[in-house]
Amino acid sequence: MKRIIIASSNEGKINEFKALLKGFELFSLAEFYKGEIEENGSSFRENALIKARAVYENLNEKQRKEFIVLSDDSGLCVEALNGRPGIFSARFSGQKSDEANRKKLIFELNSLNLNKSKAYFKCVIALRSFYGECFTNGVLRGFVIDKELGENGFGYDSLFIPRTYDKTLAQLSPELKNNISHRAKALKLMKRILKLF
Ligand code: IMP
Repeated sequence: MKRIIIASSNEGKINEFKALLKGFELFSLAEFYKGEIEENGSSFRENALIKARAVYENLNEKQRKEFIVLSDDSGLCVEALNGRPGIFSARFSGQKSDEANRKKLIFELNSLNLNKSKAYFKCVIALRSFYGECFTNGVLRGFVIDKELGENGFGYDSLFIPRTYDKTLAQLSPELKNNISHRAKALKLMKRILKLF
C-alpha cells in the first residue's frame, strides 16, 4: 500500500514532493477534497495534522485502507522578526501571494534598518493512514536578505541563503535544493516510515 495523496494545493511544494518521492504512486488533493482546509492550529505540527486528517476523513472506507495521506506545513522563521512569519508565512502580507509576502518581508527588515537577518525554514510532514498518524520534521538554517535573487523555486526562496552557501535557494538548482531543504530532510525520514507499509 504505497498510494499517497499529497494534501496540498501549493504547486511549489507538490513539485518538490514529486521529485523527492519518486517510486511512489502520488495522487493530487483535488481528486479527493474540494474546497479549502482551514489551518487554524497554533504550530506547524498542528496545521500539518489538520490538513492530513481533513483529507483522510473525507475518504470512504475502502479508500482509507488503500491510501496514505501526507501533508506539509512549513514556513520561514526570521530571527530579527522574533520568529515571524512562521506559521503565517503563506499569508504574511494579508493575502496568499508569494510576491506580496516577499515584499512585506523586505519592508519589515528595512523598517528595522536591516538588510539581512538569520532565519530558518521549518517543515513538518504529517502522515494519516488507516494504521494511525505520525510526523517528521526538517529545518534549513541560513539567512534572509532584502533583495530578490534568482528565478527558481517558490515562496521566499529568492530571499533565503542557506548556511555555507553564497546563493539564494532560487539561484541554486532544484536538485540541490532538494538535497538540503527542510522539506527534503522531513521527507527523507518519512520515506523510512513509508517503507513499512
Ligand atoms: P503552508 O501551506 O501554510 O504550509 O505555507 C507555507 C508557506 O511557507 C509557503 O506559502 C511559502 O511562503 C513558505 N515556504 C514553505 N516552504 C518553502 C520553501 O521551500 N521555499 C520558500 N518558501 C517556503
